[in-house]
Amino acid sequence: MTPEAQKPPLSVVLCSPRGFCAGVVRAIDTVERALKLYGAPVYVRHEIVHNRYVVESLKAKGAIFVAELHEIPQTDAPVVFSAHGVPKAIPNEADKRNFFTLDATCPLVTKVHREAAIHFKRGREIILIGHAGHPEVVGTLGQLPKGAVVLIETMEAARTFQPKDANKLAFVTQTTLSIDDTAEIVAVLKERFPDIDGPHKEDICYATTNRQLAVKKVAPHVGRWSWSAHPIRRILSACAQLPNAKAAACPCWCSVRPRSTGRNSRASRRSASRRVPRHRKSSSRKSWMRSHSIIS
Ligand code: SF4
Repeated sequence: MTPEAQKPPLSVVLCSPRGFCAGVVRAIDTVERALKLYGAPVYVRHEIVHNRYVVESLKAKGAIFVAELHEIPQTDAPVVFSAHGVPKAIPNEADKRNFFTLDATCPLVTKVHREAAIHFKRGREIILIGHAGHPEVVGTLGQLPKGAVVLIETMEAARTFQPKDANKLAFVTQTTLSIDDTAEIVAVLKERFPDIDGPHKEDICYATTNRQLAVKKVAPHVGRWSWSAHPIRRILSACAQLPNAKAAACPCWCSVRPRSTGRNSRASRRSASRRVPRHRKSSSRKSWMRSHSIIS
C-alpha cells in the first residue's frame, strides 16, 4: 500500500461565492486593457490585487507596480490607480506631472467617498468606521480636509468618542469589514447619538457580505477549515473568529474540510459547490483549479 493510499479520505469543499469581486476584476481588466491599447509599461499605484499570481502575470506583461507616484519617472505611459481608491492629493499630484491616469477605483468605494463629501457639505462631522492604514481608509480620509473625518476602529473607541456637535454627526464605513463587528459599532454610535446620519445599514459591499455569509453557512458543517487571504484583506476578518480557522497566504478561497469524512455525507453534499479532485498531481491539480477559476 502506498503512503498516499493510507491517508484518510479527504473531502474538500469550496465556498461559493469566493475569489475576486467585481471591483477587483474591473481593476485587473483596466491594467490588461491599458497594456493592450498602449503597450508596456503601464504603471500601477499599489498592488491591483493582493494576489501573487495576478501581480506576477501582469508584471510579466509589462505592468510596473509602485507604492507612490514619485517612484514613476516622467512618462506618457498610463498610470493606474487601484480599486481601493486614492486620496485626492494623488490625482492632483498626477495632474501636476501631466500623467495620463486611469482610475480603477471600485464604484462602491467611490460611493463612500460621495457620501462623505455630501455629509461634509452639510456641515456634519464624519466618523469613518474602518482599519487604520488600509489603503481604502487612507483614500477615504484623503477625500476631505484633515480633521473632517474621524476614524473609529473599535467598540471602545465608539463608546468614548466625543463629537464636536452631537446633532451634526454622520458615519460611513470601509467596504471590507466584518459585518458583525461593524453592526456592533454602529449600534453603539446610534445609541449614543440617535440623530447620527448614515447609510441604511453600512457601506460594507455585496462581495464582502456574501463571502462572510457563505463562510457562516459552511462553518457548522466542517470540522476544520482554512482560507487564503493576504494579511491586508479584511473581507474574511469575521471568519478568523470561527473555531479551527487557519489563515493561509493568498487572496483566493482555499480548502474547507467537512466534519464528516464521507464524500457523500449530507453535510458534504449540502456544502460542496465544487470539489478539487484529490488524486490529481500538484501540477494538474493547479491547472484544474485554474480552469475552474479557483486560482488565477
Ligand atoms: S468595494 Fe467590494 S466590490 Fe469593490 S473592490 Fe472592494 S471588495 Fe471589491
